[in-house]
Amino acid sequence: MNATTRQPILMYDTTLRDGSQGEGVSFSLQDKINVTRRLAEMGIDFVEGGYPLSNEKDVAFFQQIRDIDLGGTKVCAFGMTRRRGMKAADDPGMKALVAAQTPCITLVGKTWDYHATEVLRVSLEENLAMIGESAEFLGRHSDVIYDAEHFFDGYNANPDYAIETLRAAAASGAKWMVLCDTNGGTLPEQIAAVTKTAIEKLADFDVRFGIHCHNDGDLATANSLAAVDAGALQVQGTINGIGERCGNADLVAVVSNLALKKSGYEVLGGRSLKHLTELSRYVYETANLQWRNGQPFVGQSAFAHKGGMHVHAINKAASTYEHIDPALVGNERRILISELSGRSNIAAVAEQHNIADDREAMDKILAEVVRLENEGFQFENAGASFDLLVKRVTGSFTPHFDTIKYRVVAGDRDSRSHTVFAEAIIKLMVGDVLWFDAAEGHGPVNALDAALRKALQGTYPCLTEMHLIDYKVRVVDSGAGTAASIRVNIESSDGNESWGTIGVSENIIEASYNALVDAVEYKLHKENVPQPVADADSNDQADLAESASAN
Ligand SMILES: [Zn+2]
Repeated sequence: MNATTRQPILMYDTTLRDGSQGEGVSFSLQDKINVTRRLAEMGIDFVEGGYPLSNEKDVAFFQQIRDIDLGGTKVCAFGMTRRRGMKAADDPGMKALVAAQTPCITLVGKTWDYHATEVLRVSLEENLAMIGESAEFLGRHSDVIYDAEHFFDGYNANPDYAIETLRAAAASGAKWMVLCDTNGGTLPEQIAAVTKTAIEKLADFDVRFGIHCHNDGDLATANSLAAVDAGALQVQGTINGIGERCGNADLVAVVSNLALKKSGYEVLGGRSLKHLTELSRYVYETANLQWRNGQPFVGQSAFAHKGGMHVHAINKAASTYEHIDPALVGNERRILISELSGRSNIAAVAEQHNIADDREAMDKILAEVVRLENEGFQFENAGASFDLLVKRVTGSFTPHFDTIKYRVVAGDRDSRSHTVFAEAIIKLMVGDVLWFDAAEGHGPVNALDAALRKALQGTYPCLTEMHLIDYKVRVVDSGAGTAASIRVNIESSDGNESWGTIGVSENIIEASYNALVDAVEYKLHKENVPQPVADADSNDQADLAESASAN
């Protein structure tokens, strides 16, 4: 096939907006920034960041993301048409969209006559004016992507009016017409026919079409592909299909099918999909959701085979039971109990540590990963802990301090001031100096973090740059069949970089402390801070530095 004849199909990710409507899904500000970066690395063309009018977090997101280089990926702000009876320029929603200063603005409007008159309670003419004036106003500042809400249901009810709404947006300069199957109940053949008709009816405008499907009939992927075959050039969806009710179209499946199954299309600028599994798991971990083992292409069971034969025979036979080579999407064939997560990380980190050719080191790392995964560790979201693991296994790790003991008093309640606080006491050896410190915090982890850094900052001033930006706790089943473990993920930042660490224990404080220690060690290793050399003269009279009192 001639690569130059392939039609690019642009991917529009709405994990951070539509996806975050899913039950149990919530993203912190830092999560949103991290996910956006990952999506950009993957080559996703558009990333919808949220509603700038709805909350402070989204406003902060749009401010911060502006300063981050995302390559060719465009960030979009999302919002509704102006309110009825108001000038677009005076509408707070419109102003917030412009203030977000994104290269694209996604404007959603009503297509269905019933929705205009019964939900918005505006005349059909006023709805058209709301769409047109909003698109025109926003188009002065950014490219406008027009999302036609309930397009397929609206088209069924009143096809002429549905087309009129698109024409109102197109006539006012919107660049994209995205047809939404908002209720998610349309069948692929209906999607194809209506998309084709809509494209024909707007042939007099210089606009491109996109598709936005929900998965209520378990057809969101099939519907998205049907729309592409009918001429849509953009697919909107979420990573892993997370979203309200039954979710959105899963971009993982859409991208895989377009790149690997259908011919004539190009996605993600022709990039390889070998980080797709990693991205899928990263989003699950960040959203604090359990993976879906049976998820097509990237699920842990997507290429899992039950054994029973000699391993070589299984390896040979398994490929006859696989629709694609799992490596194409960064997944792995699983036979017996081979654990797969972390493998792509292992390869990447091995390269950084110049041990890619060291078979023995690689085997040791893999064995350690498998052991820890059985205890409940999961390194997809804890790259810094993984980096330290590689250093430990290959002998290049030297601790910057040793914890002698710590103690936390949690839940100390002052009923008069209505505050609950915690106190941590910590005793560390740094070189040959003993440090003993205490600190208070809003909770036990905050107090531990404060005490740890207080004890270390004298020796390692660069630690003042770092702070904890996110903290997540999950109960995990440990492979050993013992009591459930607690997995703690911590995200730290020093303003230049953020990094994730992990701790697992049956004790939540211990799990948190281990993740904090890794966060500090990672920072010190990253900065190449030397370990303090034990002073020969003072070896026999270890110094007790009572450096501070609780504040
Ligand atoms: Zn939607």
